[in-house]
Amino acid sequence: MQNTASGPTRSAQHKARAELPAEDGIDEEEARRGFIATRPDAEVRDAYGRLVWSLADYGFLQDENAPDTAHPSLWRQARLNLHHGLFKVCDRIYQVRGFDLANMTIIEGDSGLIIIDPLTCSEGAAAALELYLEHRPSKPVVAVIYSHSHSDHFGGVKGVTSEADVRAGKVHVIAPSGFMEHAVSENVIAGPAMGRRAQFQFGHTLTPGACCQIDSGLGKNVARGTITLIPPTWLISQEAETHTIDGIEIVFQLTPESEAPAEMHFFFPQLRALNLAENATRTLHNLCPLRGAQVRNARLWSHYLDQALERYAPHADVAFAQHHWPTWGRERLSKYLSQQRDLYKYIHDQTVRLMNHGLTAIEIAETLRLPDSLHREWHARGYYGTISHNVKAVYQHYLSWYDGNPANLHALPPEAAGRKYVEYMGGAAAVIERARADFDKGEYRWVAQVINHVVFADPGQSEARELGAAAMEQMGFQAESATWRNAFLLGARELRIGAKGVEIKTARGSDMVRAMTDEMFFDYLAVRVNGERAEGLMLRLDWVMTDTGRHYALNLENSALTVRRGKRADDPRAIVSMERATLDAILLRKTDFAKAIADGRIRVEGDPHQFAALLSTLDTFDHQFNVVEP
Ligand SMILES: [Zn+2]
Repeated sequence: MQNTASGPTRSAQHKARAELPAEDGIDEEEARRGFIATRPDAEVRDAYGRLVWSLADYGFLQDENAPDTAHPSLWRQARLNLHHGLFKVCDRIYQVRGFDLANMTIIEGDSGLIIIDPLTCSEGAAAALELYLEHRPSKPVVAVIYSHSHSDHFGGVKGVTSEADVRAGKVHVIAPSGFMEHAVSENVIAGPAMGRRAQFQFGHTLTPGACCQIDSGLGKNVARGTITLIPPTWLISQEAETHTIDGIEIVFQLTPESEAPAEMHFFFPQLRALNLAENATRTLHNLCPLRGAQVRNARLWSHYLDQALERYAPHADVAFAQHHWPTWGRERLSKYLSQQRDLYKYIHDQTVRLMNHGLTAIEIAETLRLPDSLHREWHARGYYGTISHNVKAVYQHYLSWYDGNPANLHALPPEAAGRKYVEYMGGAAAVIERARADFDKGEYRWVAQVINHVVFADPGQSEARELGAAAMEQMGFQAESATWRNAFLLGARELRIGAKGVEIKTARGSDMVRAMTDEMFFDYLAVRVNGERAEGLMLRLDWVMTDTGRHYALNLENSALTVRRGKRADDPRAIVSMERATLDAILLRKTDFAKAIADGRIRVEGDPHQFAALLSTLDTFDHQFNVVEP
């Protein structure tokens, strides 16, 4: 039955509960420690009164006991992630937690405030700063630091400062080297695919509820407000740099290619405090998130944590991060850091060891268990990442998607394979009958897998869809990882009612669009060229940005668009001129190419068909494409 835990799921939860680490209450204590004040449900609204963030729908988590529809360990984490408000970390360091997926850290300088990570959206960041100012002496913001290039760590910057103040030199914006490129590019070239997959990771289109979305592992969910961006005015580019900002000495430790391509830790010697950005949080993190990304470097990640442990931990009384709650006490934080370091190193080394014994990713994922010393630590458990998909990420990092078995080198795609499987197994009814028996035995992994063939052979098979959904739902209930839970539960919903009809906001923020370089735009334009439609076309265009004076030579032949910067084509057949602002307006969907040509904002000289032909090759993407069915 829908929304209820089956017998096998109830036993699985029971077993899981018996194997959990001992509850010493320290996480709860540390998640509350230093609490000053909050707002009801951490509610944040935008200028039009629309809800951007609220924890009101998570009231069901007040129940200390996990229901059978949630893994007890994830339920515990979801409850810990419910704490919200302004917290004192130590003298001069404060955090606002629970107003976003991420934390905002506020450091009291001699004359002003230094903000580390202004959350995902300006509304949330403004609310967080307002909460702080209600309880602490009023001081202006003098610096904003972005710990890394993920949008939950910079998107709210205009809620705590303005472009004008930054331009006037009143506020420094500090970021790790490579920040801008990665902050923007990660969301551009594979943006539509990543956005759709992120729905499965975060479950933000699922309804909060004990048998539905309860957490994301890192925090509750993604915030819905306005994403902004002010480019950094100051980049940290040395492995370790020390600067005194408004009387606060900060040692910046650069950690590229760790949790994000551009990231850094911070040590505050005077305050004896160590901030680990997102490299050491209260979970096993992702070496590759379910939304998809370039695989992160587990070996380097571990190495940076070891550096922090060696250099800074002996001089720190508190370690904290940009998600979750701090760890207090020199010995405790050193132990925590060494365990986080070894968590990533262990997964890396053991995966590579088993890979060198000839095991494939799927086999290693099935085999690898953490040593008991890590497995029994709450912070090392997989609420966001999992051992299973992290192992696959390490494998992919070294050996790619291919498991080396030529039987899998040229496998049939899902629809064709599905039809064959179903045919060989004696037809859909026979498969469903046997799968139902396996479902009753609790073999949900297999049921989801085999039913997937039936659905890809015939997506109209409603009995199969419901059985597959039921299996995924039980897997969601049993998952300790919030991202797995979200993925399975959304998969179940889409098998039941399909993927369409869900309103998804895909509008890009205008700051993000402005921050796209021309090159990023052309890269994105090139991946929109439909190869078949471009077949036989031979286009040569000069593209001029009239306000910046930059020009580009575009060449489309062999169905591939290539672009040379600062060049003019030898023999351009057309010249396209526009202001960069016109391009921004198009990317923000405030106008389109045809309208901009009609109203003269784009000028085409020479053969007008050249530009029209280029535009005619471009695909538009369906942001809600099918995943669990063809
Ligand atoms: Zn984050």
